[in-house]
Amino acid sequence: MTDRYAVIGNPIGHSKSPLIHTAFARATRQDIEYTRIEAPLDGFEPAVRAFRAHGGRGINVTTPFKLQACALATDPLDAARHAGAANALKFEGDRILAENFDGIGLVHDIERNLDFPVAGKRVLVLGAGGAARGALLPLLQRRPAGVTIANRHDERAVELAAHFGAHGAVVGCSNAALAHERFDLVINATSASMRGDLPDVPAGVFGPDALAYDLVYGWGLTPFLRLARDAGTRRLADGVGMLVEQAAEAFAWWRGVRPDTRAVIEQLAVPLQ
Ligand code: NDP
Repeated sequence: MTDRYAVIGNPIGHSKSPLIHTAFARATRQDIEYTRIEAPLDGFEPAVRAFRAHGGRGINVTTPFKLQACALATDPLDAARHAGAANALKFEGDRILAENFDGIGLVHDIERNLDFPVAGKRVLVLGAGGAARGALLPLLQRRPAGVTIANRHDERAVELAAHFGAHGAVVGCSNAALAHERFDLVINATSASMRGDLPDVPAGVFGPDALAYDLVYGWGLTPFLRLARDAGTRRLADGVGMLVEQAAEAFAWWRGVRPDTRAVIEQLAVPLQ
């Protein structure tokens, strides 16, 4: 029987996950079916249980259900536990395993696809929401010189830094405190780009040879990437590689085979101009 997988969220119509996982399955000759599930905002758990009861083997989780996915798990694994949020579930008998591959997807994209080792680098993370939370442990595990988190509501950045402080050199601050700071890697983990907005960040944060990385994908040259480019930054990236890499991690976790990601990233990438 064909194994069933899905992505669950609300809204979900825009999700690229079915396209990505179908391409992975074809390339690795895995017999799977992958669909979208739009759960009601108050109906995440029943939707997961129904999918599981009808032969679902695993599920990707997106906004706004990542916290609930972690809470539902019988076995939250390392990254999910640290983030308090999961973007993938695996059903094994009575167990529900949860993991969060967003952060490792980001780090794989930066290091493997963009050839930018994080070790020794000064890293700035803009934003203190779910995506920033998921990215911090994998980033800190790469031993950067330090990670600074800056957020519009700075108390959230400070709280997040305290949460991950045992894992490396990480501080939280306001955007205003960045006035005289320079970084090698600047990650926009706010959702500002989705509304055409720019987080309140000084153009001087981009050091020489910096990489500017916006987590959103499919929006072309966002206001954040334009700021970086106008400040002289030549290395610009959006989150399409992160999206495909986290999907590859989930696929490998479910199926035991890691698909190649390059062709799918190329298929989904839009020019940054
Ligand atoms: P959350 O809603 O959890 O967090 C949003 C963050 O953005 C908060 O820190 C918020 O600040 C900040 N923010 C929102 N609007 C503005 C603004 N106008 N100016 C400055 N800061 C702002 O969202 P997520 O963390 O889940 O997602 C963040 C982004 O990452 C989204 O664009 C999402 O699409 C993208 N993403 C991409 C993935 C990929 O695979 N490429 C995977 C996951 C997410 P405050 O706390 O002050 O409100």
